[in-house]
Amino acid sequence: MSQVIAIQRESSGCQDQPVLRERGQREVFCGLTGIIWLHRKIQDAFFLVVGSRTCAHLIQSAAGVMIFAEPRFATAIIDERDLAGLADANVELDRVVTRLLDRRPDIKLLFLVGSCPSEVIKLDLGRAAQRLSQRFSPSVRVLNYSGSGIETTFTQGEDACLAAMVPSLPVAAENQASGSQKSLVVVGALADVVEDQFKRLFDQLGIGPVAFFPPRRANAMPEIGPDTRFLLAQPFLADTARALEARGATRLDALFPIGEEGTTEWLRAAADAWDVPTEKFDAVVAPGQARARRAVEMHHALLSGRSVFFFPDSQLEVPLARFLSRELKMNLTEVGTPYLHRQHLARDLALLPDSITLSEGQHVERQLDRCRALKPDLVVCGLGLANPLEAEGMTTKWSIELVFTPIQGYDQAGDLAELFSRPLHRRTKIAA
Ligand code: SF4
Repeated sequence: MSQVIAIQRESSGCQDQPVLRERGQREVFCGLTGIIWLHRKIQDAFFLVVGSRTCAHLIQSAAGVMIFAEPRFATAIIDERDLAGLADANVELDRVVTRLLDRRPDIKLLFLVGSCPSEVIKLDLGRAAQRLSQRFSPSVRVLNYSGSGIETTFTQGEDACLAAMVPSLPVAAENQASGSQKSLVVVGALADVVEDQFKRLFDQLGIGPVAFFPPRRANAMPEIGPDTRFLLAQPFLADTARALEARGATRLDALFPIGEEGTTEWLRAAADAWDVPTEKFDAVVAPGQARARRAVEMHHALLSGRSVFFFPDSQLEVPLARFLSRELKMNLTEVGTPYLHRQHLARDLALLPDSITLSEGQHVERQLDRCRALKPDLVVCGLGLANPLEAEGMTTKWSIELVFTPIQGYDQAGDLAELFSRPLHRRTKIAA
């Protein structure tokens, strides 16, 4: 039964934010969507969705035109079968995997990705991954995670994928001579160009060694141990962070690296952990800050003073809202997010104005009513809501674009602002 569960006053760490918690019909993609960016990131990995024709259709249409000579994902379609047919399903899965790995010796890491259909839920993919890993080890490691729409929303697929890798990450060797050597791991899939920019900044600051997780190659997994410090690059990695902490690593608390302010404070968290002198830090980040401010300023005229409403979708909503409010002076109305991780988002939440409605979860009809009543200048929402809202005369931004586009770091701040100004610009031109 759809209902508003509760409205509570929660502590955000530095200030109180009212949180409207809703449960009801949701309009979000499932966690399979993460494969679309993860398969581009880990270049010798393969994602085998164990699912239905619906899953195959989602992945194929969402991923669009395949740009690689050989695809890095596929769907093994499990047709309806009863429990007695499960042995066959396992045999069939083994046969599909064997044929795939025989044909594709470039695959070093294979993910079996679970989905919603009851036939798939009945299959023990964890056991299948173990069995296949033993068989194909050491040349291929087989892991599993769920991208099911029952268990995951949109960006949670990445969290489930990374969390599945954590137990097999190598143990960081203790440095006997110096007692310890801190290392930094940046956690969350970033575009290669963004990773390279951050790597250069860390090098200039004297912070290192630095590794990125997920890595570009399966044999470049970061080592994890008590001297590992990690920075989350994405706000939707609760399970991954928990798994890394269980391995002894320590999360560096920071704003998320979105916009000039977020990037500076994210880098500062690492700089503080490495005792980088303030003067050095300021000198290293100053050129990037200046570039970001200049690029963002170009969008002030169009965005400043305009109102924006976020429907819950990507879990990026809180840091994006912070960026729009503080760097573009937009007026936040409602900021909805599927899940609110108050600890990871504490610093971002503390910078949001008190006046907003902060909501977690979704009851789409009620939220649509609130949105219509507020008549915001811009609505950030999933694909399913965008067209109907555009038809009602609202201007929308697809939140999925904010996940697929490189938006983190100084040199992407202007592009990020443009993602919000473009729909308003288009609407102005249509009206003219
Ligand atoms: S995992 Fe579930 S929600 Fe996602 S495409 Fe498959 S059936 Fe649909």
